[in-house]
Amino acid sequence: MDYEPVIGLEVHVQLKTKTKMFTRVAYQYGEEPNTLTNPVIMGLPGTLPVLNKAAIEQTIRFGLLFGSEVPEISKWDRKNYFYPDNPKNYQLSQYDQPLCVGGSVEIELPGPSRNVMGEHKTIELTRAHLEEDVGKLTHFENDSLVDYNRAGTPLLEIVSEPVLRSPEECVAFLNALRVALSNAGISDCDMEKGQLRCDANVSVRPVGSDILNTRTEMKNLNSVAHVRDAVAYEIQRQTKVYQDGGRVVQETRRWNVDGGFTSSLRSKEHAHDYRYFPDPDLMPVKIPQETKDRLLGDLPELQFDMQRRFMEDYGLPYTLTSVLCPDLPLARFFEAAVAVYNKPRQIANYVANDLLRELAESGNEGEGGMPVSESPASPESIAGLVQLIDDGVISSQIAKAVFAEMFKTGKAPGDIVEAKGLKQSTDTGEIEGICREVIANNPKPVEQFKAGNEKAINALKGQVMKATRGKANPKMLDDLLRKLLGD
Ligand code: ADP
Ligand code: MG
Repeated sequence: MDYEPVIGLEVHVQLKTKTKMFTRVAYQYGEEPNTLTNPVIMGLPGTLPVLNKAAIEQTIRFGLLFGSEVPEISKWDRKNYFYPDNPKNYQLSQYDQPLCVGGSVEIELPGPSRNVMGEHKTIELTRAHLEEDVGKLTHFENDSLVDYNRAGTPLLEIVSEPVLRSPEECVAFLNALRVALSNAGISDCDMEKGQLRCDANVSVRPVGSDILNTRTEMKNLNSVAHVRDAVAYEIQRQTKVYQDGGRVVQETRRWNVDGGFTSSLRSKEHAHDYRYFPDPDLMPVKIPQETKDRLLGDLPELQFDMQRRFMEDYGLPYTLTSVLCPDLPLARFFEAAVAVYNKPRQIANYVANDLLRELAESGNEGEGGMPVSESPASPESIAGLVQLIDDGVISSQIAKAVFAEMFKTGKAPGDIVEAKGLKQSTDTGEIEGICREVIANNPKPVEQFKAGNEKAINALKGQVMKATRGKANPKMLDDLLRKLLGD
């Protein structure tokens, strides 16, 4: 019998807020352990939590971005468990009245090649709620150490319906979330800093069946690759268990990164194990329609919506949109340039190729290049550069050099062309002289061209361009050479 996978993901995202969820302690990654705590976080008697408004608003923004219902009333619950990562012995979370209900995320699967758009699917969300993160344990041979710096930071938990059907869909889902959340400024989603972590729930069932079979859960996967590999392994393992006539046990399993396999950790806990109850210290929150309206007005366009718009309105090919649109500042840079000079295709090429390359090669060491917001070359200057090519002032070959100079100095393209004397020569006499010389000195390509080899003319053009330092107008050059060769 053939089996098909059924996967649901629970994604934990650290929100981009200045302070923690229930107390005014600043949070920053990588600080000295246990320096970012206070009595509230340590759960000392007599302390009371106070809600972080920014975290609640970021969560509402998440819901609005993905079409969730944001109910008028939302409340806080205690999830009780005893473990050293959590000094209060309960985690403040949301149980039956989360901030976001439902919603969906559009994903794109890899296409047959990089240039071809892949299949799009809609992944339904069950809910998204806000909770506090817990401390971080580091285990050694005989003992463990705990760092409470992360404890109490706002954590958004996003729960998908069990509708993902392959490891690739899981990857696409996580990528779509990552792009949208960082573009909206909800989270930086830096997985290396633990800002996005994922629990993967996996089951398999006979193809064609619509039952939800017994599942296992792999917790705390902290890279997209780990999610993909753990899910792929688990699908194979469970399929084999059934094919061998066995039963899958509902349990929490560990993903062993080095060995590339999952192993049993503990039997799965159930909601009733946590003795959820409403937190007596926190009032439910009421979210008025005006708040939602205000937050709705400040949401960025989603990546795939923007790609469709760029293809339709600007006539861009899919490949260019798939470079520009996931990177909102880059997409905005492109649109600002097009607003100055309406040649989207040419401008998109400069932004997606030349500008991105220069940015990648600049910036501080180890920071992954320079952000586009700091680019010395402005949208106006790139628009100006494309216009200079269109007007025949410079060739596209010279434009490459002008662009490099623009990026280095921040000067306007017109000024660079002027100062360096890069204007295309339209002096027919001068170019004709050089053409004659080149023809005289290169008998071989001349002979080949005359014998019918069209391409041989390119060698001659190259020589003339070299002699004129790229300033010959290509059309004029082509006409001249053909005339002199008696074509
Ligand atoms: P819990 O809170 O105990 O982890 P939930 O019912 O909230 O359980 O589900 C958590 C995740 O598991 C959700 O993403 C859901 O889609 C997924 N899930 C539920 N049942 C299955 C199943 N049979 N196979 C795969 N995933 C499942
Ligand atoms: Mg779970």
